[in-house]
This record gives sequence, C-alpha cells and structure tokens, in this order.
Amino acid sequence: MKIFSSLLTFALLCIASVYSYTIGLKALVLHTQEDETFQNTIYGLESYGIPFDAFIINNTDHILTGNLSLYDEEGNPKYYLVILISGKLSSETADKTFTSSLSDEQWAYLDAYEQTFNVRRVTFSDTPESITGTSIYDASTWGNTYIQKIVGADNEIANEIYKRAGIKKDAPIATNNNFYHTPVTITNPDIATPVFYFEACEKIKERTVGAIYAKLEDGRERLSFFLPTASWSLDTIVLNHLWIHWGTRSIYNGIRRVTFSPHIDDVFISTNCVSTESSYESGITLGSESFRISKADLDDYLKFKDEILKKMPAGSSFNVDLAINGNGLLPVGDQLQVDGNRYVTLDYVKPMGEGMNNWPVEHYVPNWTDEYLAQDDLFQYFKNKENRSKFFWCSHTFTHENLDNASRSDVDNEIRVNIEMAKKLDLINEEWWSGRSIITPQISGLHSGDALEIFREYGIVSATGDISRADITNNSNPYLPFITTKGSSHVENFPIIPRSPTEIYFYASTPEEDTYIYNYMYHSYFGSDSTWEQILQRESTRALRLIMLLRHEAHQFHQANMRSDDSNEHQSLLQRWVEAVVNEYTKYADWPLVSLKLDDLNQLSIDRYNAEQCHASYKILVKDGYATEILINNPSEHDCVLPITVPDDVVRQSEYKFEQLGNDPLTVWVKVGANEESITLSPPLKWNPAFISSPATSTTTTKATTTAAPQPTTQPATQPTTPPATGDSTVYRHWFDDFFATDWYSCGNVEYECKQLKSDQCYAEVNQCWIKVPWPESGDLCNEMNVICAKIWTYVK
Ligand SMILES: [Zn+2]
Repeated sequence: MKIFSSLLTFALLCIASVYSYTIGLKALVLHTQEDETFQNTIYGLESYGIPFDAFIINNTDHILTGNLSLYDEEGNPKYYLVILISGKLSSETADKTFTSSLSDEQWAYLDAYEQTFNVRRVTFSDTPESITGTSIYDASTWGNTYIQKIVGADNEIANEIYKRAGIKKDAPIATNNNFYHTPVTITNPDIATPVFYFEACEKIKERTVGAIYAKLEDGRERLSFFLPTASWSLDTIVLNHLWIHWGTRSIYNGIRRVTFSPHIDDVFISTNCVSTESSYESGITLGSESFRISKADLDDYLKFKDEILKKMPAGSSFNVDLAINGNGLLPVGDQLQVDGNRYVTLDYVKPMGEGMNNWPVEHYVPNWTDEYLAQDDLFQYFKNKENRSKFFWCSHTFTHENLDNASRSDVDNEIRVNIEMAKKLDLINEEWWSGRSIITPQISGLHSGDALEIFREYGIVSATGDISRADITNNSNPYLPFITTKGSSHVENFPIIPRSPTEIYFYASTPEEDTYIYNYMYHSYFGSDSTWEQILQRESTRALRLIMLLRHEAHQFHQANMRSDDSNEHQSLLQRWVEAVVNEYTKYADWPLVSLKLDDLNQLSIDRYNAEQCHASYKILVKDGYATEILINNPSEHDCVLPITVPDDVVRQSEYKFEQLGNDPLTVWVKVGANEESITLSPPLKWNPAFISSPATSTTTTKATTTAAPQPTTQPATQPTTPPATGDSTVYRHWFDDFFATDWYSCGNVEYECKQLKSDQCYAEVNQCWIKVPWPESGDLCNEMNVICAKIWTYVK
C-alpha cells in the first residue's frame, strides 16, 4: 500500500511534466464480469496479436484493494491503452444496488496515470455525463433495442479514426438483432466530437450520437461507445478496428492481415454429384454421371480471377490452392483401387505400428513416362508452366485414402507416390508448390503418430485441420495451431492449422445441387426451404465475420465446385461464393485480401505460435513529447520473428523485413534473439500534444522546453561545424545534394540484393538528415527523402 501511495504522489507531481519515458506496448482491460463485450474486446486484441492484461473488478467477489498495478518493477508505465468494458465499471453490490467498482481514490490514480503518460481510454457502454460533454438523449429511457443504422460522422477526427482503421463510414452496420444501445446528445462540442451516429428510425425521429471522441479539459483523451459489443455480432466486430487503431495510435505489436485462400480439394479425381431428381426428403442419392474439371472450367476460372482482382481493394492478391490426388491423372483403367473409407471414429488414436494395408503392394514404385501421362488433358495442360503458375499447389495424397487407420506402408505410398506425380508435373521447387504442408483426405491421419512421422520424413511439417472438429482445433485461441501431444497422436509438436469448411459441398457442382443438400440438412433448423440467394447471403456473412476477426483460416472447396459449363452459366459455385464474399467485404473495409499458398499460410500460424512462446516485452520510448523508438526484448532462449505495425514509416534496417500492401499501415518483422532490438519511427509520432503545444506549462528542469524537437535517434555528439542560420532551409538541402542526385531506382524490379543495398544506403542518409538538420526544417526535408527511399521496394522500371 505504501508503494502505491508513493507512486500516486509521484504521478500527481509529474502531471504535465513527464515527457520522456518508456511505456509498455500493452493494453489494460478492466471488466466487472465475463460478458460478451469483454469476450469481443479480447477477440479484437487477439485478432491483431496485441498483448493485454485483463483484470476483473467488481463489488462482490473481485473487490480491488489498493490501487491498480500500472507500473513495472523499474517504475515505468506498463500500459499504453486503457479499456473499460463498461462505463464506470458499475457492478452490483452485496445489497443489490449498482455502483462503481472502483473508489474515488482508485479512479484518481488511474486518471493521473492516463494524464501523466498520455494514455488513451476506450469505454464501452459508457455513461453520458458533463465531463465528456454528453448527456442522454431521452432522459426517460436509458436505451433501446430498435434497429438503427450506425453511420460514421463527418468531421476531421472521425475521418481520421475511420481512415486509420480502414473501415468505410457507410459500412452497412446497424444495431441489428435488437442490440441494446443508448442514444446520446453532445452538450459541449469543445469537449466531445461525434465519431458515429445512430440514424433516425421509426421510433426515434432524430439522428443521435453513438460514439464520441472526448478531449477532457485536463487534456486526457477518450473514445466512448454508447453501446456494448458482442463477438456474435458482425456489426460490433467491425467497430473493434476503430478503437484499436485510435487507442494504439496504430502502433501495435501485431498485424492487421486478412488472408483469403480458397482450397480446392480432390483435384484430378472425379466426383459423383448429388441427384436432384426426387425430393431431398428422401435423402441424398448420387447421380450416375461423374464430374471432373476440364480445361474449359479452368479457362472460365482464370477469366474470373482477373475480374475479381479488380473488385478487391488495392494490394490484394487472389489464388486458389489446388490440393491434388495424382491417381486421377492416370488412365481410368490404370488408376489404383485403394479403399479410401474411414472405419474408425474421428478422434481414434491409432496405436503405433498398427493399421490397415489397403494398397496392393508395400513401397509402390511408379514407372510412368511423360508420354503415358500425356494421355490426360489436364496433365498436358499443366505441363505448361504458364498454366501451372496461375494456381497454388499442394498434396492431398495419391489416391485419397483415409489415413486414420492406415499402416505406415500405406501412408508412405500415399505421400511418396503423390510427390512423384508432382515431380512429373515439374511442381517440386516451384514457388507456387507447398512441399512443407499437406491437406490430408477427410482431414485424417492427424491422430496417427505413424502418419505424422512419415510426413516429417518427407519434409512435411504441418497439416491442415478443420475448425468444425474440436479434437484437432486449438480451442483456447483460434489464431494458433493445434499442437499434437503424445495423448492426441503419439507424436508431439506437430502443428495442425485451422481451416473453415464452407456450405459449398463436396457433392455439389451447381446451385441447384448445393441448395438441395443445404435444405436436406437445414430445413428443420430454419423451418422452411432456403433459396440459393439466401444460402449465399448467409455464407458471405459467416465468412465476413471470420475476416473481420482477422482469422486466417482457408476456405474449403472441392473440385466439383469449379464446374463452369453450359449447365452452370459459366459461373462455378466457387466463383459465385467468392464474388458474394468480396462484394460484401468491400462494403466494409479497404484492407487488401491476400491469398497465401499452403506453406506460407501455415507458417503464419506457426510463427505466431512461436512468437507467443517468446513472451517478448515491448516498450515505446517517448522523448520530449514524441514517440521515437520501439524497444523489443526477448527473455526466452528462442529466436522469434515478431510483427510491429507503425502509423507511418521507420528508419529501414536491412535485418528487418517490411510488409505494406495497399492501404495497410507498415508492419516491420523483427527477428529478436538475446539482444534488445529497436525500431526508430520516422517521422517520430507526436505523443503528448499538450506538452508540444504549450511547453511553458512544463515544470521540468532537465531541458530547455522551447526546442522540443523530435529525435528519432540519439542526439549526435557533434553538430555540423557551421550550422546555418535558422530558417535557411535551402542550405540544409544542399547538404544532401548527392542524395537528390542519386538514382535510387536503378535496380529495376527484380534485383533483391541490389534493392536491399540501395535501401540501406538511402535510409542511412535519411538518418543523417534527422540527426544533423534541426527542427522544424528536418520535418519537411527528411520526410521528403524518406518518401524517396520508401519507393525503392515498390519501384517498377
Ligand atoms: Zn478430399
């Protein structure tokens, strides 16, 4: 208690005077119960990978004694963002009244912390009151469940918040599903600025305020939402991105990356589709005709691929991953007949060394010639590299045998012989081939230690899972792989990467067939038949929810879903699904959609798992009111690769990787080992506006306050020998004549090493600029140089 009160004294003394410090890159979440808003907030933070501490505090079983723990052992502030899950943290007391869960003193301690270190506060279900310049719209009723559209406000602050988040102000969100909310009015526009409105509805004839930015009279900044949120509600999941970007000022130890990777299973084998001749009530029977994709289907797909890319936001890429079964390329009469069915339960853990031999021989050795294989149209088609390059590729085993109870010999045949076929197609070592991962038939074999050992023998170090199966899903964190254990699979530490099944079915090649199966399964759930349009609408909402949660699961399709012929208006089920999702998505966000091949998609998940094992600590260095550097330490013994996203740019260093697509902010991937790493923000970010604009209020004695210059690097020991007169910016520019005369883009578009060298040289000059040129002239000049350097990587000759 003593230490708390002395820290409080310290903090209060320091108000408006502490402007150089380090602050943890971590969020503090305070909540009174495990409710939906809390869950959705945690999902929001996890979706980016932003670390947080969550504390439950209430008036019954979680009473806070003393003050919140806001400082680390060295007395540095731990949190750069405070999130309150409900206004005033109100909770029920033992005598059934509602009151704040924090005392006045505890609130004062938190307020002083926020004020001293310029920490932003986000509040859900906030209470309108004079301190935030707001009051309740209708004093007779606290809130309602009417459906009201949520529309972004038109002012500089709201524009900036939406722009940073990449969320469209007219995104079609609303208080759907009778979502409880509190209409508010602004009483003091000097304090409160609307961020979004609840549009008028039949019961409420006026537009009211739904969220505000407030700058309190003492300088503290808040973002207040007058509604709760929920992870089942797409509308409020979308709102996560607004507060995350505002609250973190777009500096966070994570990445906002949307992956969009359809997988096509069973490529090269054929499928008997469902017969729609009789009513679905009589069950599912298969037609006699079997369907296998043809060159014509692929041609239609490629046309579609070009079209859909044009509809996607800047920076997007689109590719489907073909999961191939090589057996289907053999002449029909020569195809191996291997029983592919599953005879054990889904979670059957196969004893080591046991299992069925369904292959005709152990260690099957193929002896195909190119001429023999060229009897097949698709083999011929894909023998052409140009055609192969339009897809991603991976293995789905040779014959599609279920591996749950397969013998080692069978697994070896399935893996090895399919690799032989991939070699015949020249796929091995091509950039679009994934040799380090696999999609197993029916997502089987993942409880078989024998199968996992054989995968590893062939360099396959991860496999695709299925989020509809709890036995192979990381149920505590959907952003991480399921890691096998001795108990789950006899073999440990094999990562299973989540994938999402779709309602586009294996047995369906047309909307009619898909609708038939859908109604067979869901008629009783909905109490009526669904139309194809309804199915697509539900599918795009379901996929959009995953996307808005930044979930990286690939979407599962099958080869019959690529049928695109006369019977199908030349639009495959895949195409219709992708189009529906993209059309819906682009109403909400302008982030790029990125297709990753299986190896890269899986690695994303594995890297994230490894990063979590590192328990790295991150701090922002704030100097003279500017955030200048991000410092990263890794207390573990493993190296790990960590993403850090920044609002503008950084001083480029060759050992880091840089990722920025379309309208994305820049993400720096930093490999962190035993030594501290640092990223220098360029330009530095104004952290303490109060201090910068009115330095005279500072009581510090450590430095003259009138030269509050941003300092991206440490102050140079020696200044330029003949400093020019202040304001003579052309003289500073002359210092860098060589820089402006250099052709930084001489590498063209492909020379990686050349570009890296140029980039290093270029940013070294920018660094010199920040060091030598005084503020404010450095602002324009160094940034101009920085823009030149930033184009090196994207320059196309
Ligand atoms: Zn399959």
